[in-house]
Amino acid sequence: MATKVDKDREKILQVEVKRRRVKAGGGYEPFWKLKDLDVALVDEDTEFRCKDCGGALKVFKSHKAGVPVAHAEHKERADSEYCATGLHFKKATDGREPRPSAHPVE
Ligand SMILES: [Zn+2]
Repeated sequence: MATKVDKDREKILQVEVKRRRVKAGGGYEPFWKLKDLDVALVDEDTEFRCKDCGGALKVFKSHKAGVPVAHAEHKERADSEYCATGLHFKKATDGREPRPSAHPVE
């Protein structure tokens, strides 16, 4: 059981990417923009976070045919357990409420 490959992987296809915009009065300020992950990869974005909990993501790129498309998973299991899009959250049967990541990416 422990060695079995977990086929129930998270598959987050939409993420927030960190961008910069011109601030009123000069300079730049960072902001988070919602994007499809495959578009973000083409645009060469490098900073990602979960759009629902703000938690860190692991990004899996795919360039091979037949392999699942690029997707992201929560880096921290705790995020996955309490994020609305988290795999472990969806599996939970205790009626828990989603909550933001304890370690959001800022
Ligand atoms: Zn999340």
